[in-house]
Formats: sequence, structure tokens, C-alpha cells
Amino acid sequence: MKKLFSLMMLFTLVTAVSGQALKRTADPKERGYQESDFPRVQKVAPNVYTYEAVVGSPNERYTTNSMFVVTKDGVLVADGQGSPEALRLMFAAIAKITPLPVKMMVMCSDHGDHTNGNTALPTGVELIAHPNSRANLERQANAPNRPATAPKIVMPGSSLAQDKRVIKMGGTEIQIQFLGRAHTGGDLVVYLPKEKVLFTSEIFLNHLFPAMRSAYPAEWMQVFRKLQKIDARMIIPGHGFVDDPKTLKEELQAYIRSTEAVIAEATRLHNAGIPVDEAVKQAKWGEFTSWSGSASQGPIAIRRVYDELDGKLR
Ligand SMILES: [Zn+2]
Repeated sequence: MKKLFSLMMLFTLVTAVSGQALKRTADPKERGYQESDFPRVQKVAPNVYTYEAVVGSPNERYTTNSMFVVTKDGVLVADGQGSPEALRLMFAAIAKITPLPVKMMVMCSDHGDHTNGNTALPTGVELIAHPNSRANLERQANAPNRPATAPKIVMPGSSLAQDKRVIKMGGTEIQIQFLGRAHTGGDLVVYLPKEKVLFTSEIFLNHLFPAMRSAYPAEWMQVFRKLQKIDARMIIPGHGFVDDPKTLKEELQAYIRSTEAVIAEATRLHNAGIPVDEAVKQAKWGEFTSWSGSASQGPIAIRRVYDELDGKLR
């Protein structure tokens, strides 16, 4: 039995490495990784890298992802990490790739697991966030036990109506886009038109159950439609592994399906007149039950969709 188990482990490892029958999961152990394989840096284009750090509770492990773009004139980072130590570790990894300084960081998600490290940002790093995220952070700053997150925040456009800001850093074109409210309300994506790389942050999670604590579910579905129109070769998720481009495209479709299914299930219960406390017990997630976070995120999603249907989201 023990021998069979170790053979199975070996098989998992070999298939993971060869890329055949890649185990679709966000969990490092299920994928056959060691925790020591992270943080992991991957080169996804000649000047573009992803950074994955493993986070979560002991029995729910997954990666938090950032992207960094190395230009002739410095570095742009998309999304931070969840603690000052984690941010310093990422900056140390960037320094191994280039001696050039980080000039800009885009706050694509304002949630703490992507922003709590920002207190360790070196001075001179320009932090870009959507006005909705700035408002979210200001609210959080007043809450007890919340570190002050943002030293300086610049809006993506010169006005609220402007949803795209194009940056030319060292000859590299970098587009920061707001496609609408999705996971946080201030969701930004970073798109490199020449390299065709798209960092989606938490609009897309690779094989994690839809997280809706502060989401706008119906608007999120509209955001997916806009996201799919962007000409991208490589689509990078905010959590879950940075897999090969083909796998990630498939997983984006699966994530859209899962979000749609979660909204449909909550709407079904709502329309049947089931009270929300009862609905969280009755909800059925089908194929998405096995996804990381379904037990903790399922009830949160139900409550959020109920709020939206009841007109409580502004
Ligand atoms: Zn997150």
C-alpha cells in the first residue's frame, strides 16, 4: 500500500513536470509541489515575469500572484503581497533579475492579501489605484487593526470617466485598464499589447471558488465579457498557479462558468423565497464543490448575491 502510494506520488510529480494531464488545482500539495518550491518566479515574455507566493490556512493553501515588467527605465509591478515581509521577499526576487528600481506599482486588487505589504514599499514608488479602491482603503484605514496601506495613490486616468491609462516606461507600452466593478469594485488589469500578456488580478482565479466578499456579481459577468475581448496570449490570475497559456485560457473559461453557476444557484434560492441563512445550507455547487475555498466562500457568495438582488449594493 505504501509502495503504491509513493508510486502515485511519483506519477503526480512526473505528469506535473511534463505538463501532461496537469492536475487542475490551486493546492501546491495536490499539484505535487513542495512549499519550498515557492516563492516562484516565471518568465512569461522576454521582459515580463510572474511571482507566486504560497499563502492561506494550513489546510487551504494557494498562491498569491504578482507580475513585474522590466523596462529600460525601471520596473512596474502589478499587485503587491500580503505582508511587509512578503513584499520585501518579492522585491528581493526582482532585484535578482534587474538592478533597476521599481518605479511604479499598480494596485489591481485593494484586498489586504495584495496590499498589506505596501507599508514596506521603498519611497519613490508611485502607487496607482482606481478611485473606488482608494475609497475602499480609506474605509479600511479607519477600521481597528488596519495598517495604513497607501503612501500615494494616483488615479488611472485624469478623470473618473477615463478607464484606461497608457504608460510608456523605457519604451515598453503598459496599459492599465478598469473594465468595471468585479471582485473589489476598483479592479484594474495590466495589459502589455506588444507582448500580449494580461494580468487580471482577482477578476480571475485559477481553480479557486469565486470569492465574492466585496464583489459586484452581475457587473463581474460584464467584466468577463470585456476581458475576453482583449487580445492576450497569456492571461495571469490573481490566485492559483501561473500555468501554461493554454491551461490558463481554459481555466478562465472554467472560472467564468463557476461564477455564472454561483450567481445562478443563489438567484434560484432567492427567487424560491428561501431565507439567506437557510440558503447557505441548501446551496449546491456541483462540479465546483471540489474547488479550493468552496466551503468558506460558498456562504459568502450566497449572501453577496442576495444583497445584490435585494438592491443593497451601491
Ligand atoms: Zn486575494
